[in-house]
Amino acid sequence: MKVSIDKTKCVVCGSCVAICPEVFEMRDDGVVDVKMEYQGVEIAEPELQEKVRQAADACPAMAIVVEE
Ligand code: SF4
Repeated sequence: MKVSIDKTKCVVCGSCVAICPEVFEMRDDGVVDVKMEYQGVEIAEPELQEKVRQAADACPAMAIVVEE
Protein backbone atom coordinates (compact mmCIF):
# COMPACT_ATOMS: atom_id res chain seq x y z
CA MET A 1 0.00 0.00 0.00
CA LYS A 2 1.10 3.51 -0.79
CA VAL A 3 -0.59 6.65 0.47
CA SER A 4 -0.53 10.30 -0.47
CA ILE A 5 -2.59 13.42 0.21
CA ASP A 6 -4.20 15.51 -2.51
CA LYS A 7 -3.35 18.92 -1.08
CA THR A 8 -5.78 20.65 -3.44
CA LYS A 9 -8.58 18.89 -1.52
CA CYS A 10 -7.19 18.75 2.05
CA VAL A 11 -8.97 21.14 4.42
CA VAL A 12 -6.36 20.64 7.17
CA CYS A 13 -8.86 19.29 9.70
CA GLY A 14 -6.18 17.17 11.39
CA SER A 15 -8.32 14.04 11.53
CA CYS A 16 -5.79 11.82 9.74
CA VAL A 17 -3.03 12.99 12.07
CA ALA A 18 -5.20 12.14 15.07
CA ILE A 19 -6.05 8.68 13.73
CA CYS A 20 -2.64 7.71 12.37
CA PRO A 21 0.17 9.94 13.64
CA GLU A 22 2.68 7.28 12.56
CA VAL A 23 2.09 8.17 8.90
CA PHE A 24 0.51 11.64 8.78
CA GLU A 25 1.83 14.87 10.22
CA MET A 26 0.94 18.52 10.43
CA ARG A 27 3.95 20.57 9.43
CA ASP A 28 5.07 23.82 10.94
CA ASP A 29 3.80 25.63 7.83
CA GLY A 30 0.27 24.37 8.53
CA VAL A 31 0.21 21.75 5.77
CA VAL A 32 -0.85 18.19 6.53
CA ASP A 33 1.10 15.56 4.61
CA VAL A 34 2.40 12.04 4.65
CA LYS A 35 5.61 11.89 6.65
CA MET A 36 8.77 11.92 4.57
CA GLU A 37 9.66 8.34 5.49
CA TYR A 38 6.36 7.09 4.06
CA GLN A 39 6.18 9.20 0.90
CA GLY A 40 6.15 6.91 -2.13
CA VAL A 41 7.05 4.03 0.16
CA GLU A 42 5.24 0.71 0.33
CA ILE A 43 3.53 0.35 3.72
CA ALA A 44 3.62 -3.35 4.58
CA GLU A 45 2.58 -3.56 8.23
CA PRO A 46 -1.08 -4.71 8.44
CA GLU A 47 -1.80 -2.62 11.55
CA LEU A 48 -0.49 0.50 9.86
CA GLN A 49 -2.42 -0.27 6.69
CA GLU A 50 -5.62 -0.53 8.73
CA LYS A 51 -4.99 2.82 10.39
CA VAL A 52 -4.29 4.44 7.02
CA ARG A 53 -7.59 3.04 5.70
CA GLN A 54 -9.39 4.37 8.76
CA ALA A 55 -7.86 7.79 8.21
CA ALA A 56 -8.84 7.74 4.54
CA ASP A 57 -12.42 6.76 5.42
CA ALA A 58 -12.61 9.53 8.03
CA CYS A 59 -11.21 12.27 5.80
CA PRO A 60 -14.04 14.76 5.23
CA ALA A 61 -12.48 15.98 1.97
CA MET A 62 -11.67 12.53 0.53
CA ALA A 63 -8.16 13.86 0.07
CA ILE A 64 -6.27 10.73 1.13
CA VAL A 65 -5.25 8.67 -1.88
CA VAL A 66 -4.60 4.99 -1.09
CA GLU A 67 -3.02 2.73 -3.69
CA GLU A 68 -3.52 -0.89 -2.69
S1 SF4 B 1 -8.25 14.11 7.24
FE1 SF4 B 1 -8.22 14.78 5.09
S2 SF4 B 1 -8.81 16.93 5.14
FE2 SF4 B 1 -8.26 16.36 7.22
S3 SF4 B 1 -6.07 16.91 7.38
FE3 SF4 B 1 -6.16 14.75 6.76
S4 SF4 B 1 -6.06 14.79 4.50
FE4 SF4 B 1 -6.59 16.87 5.20
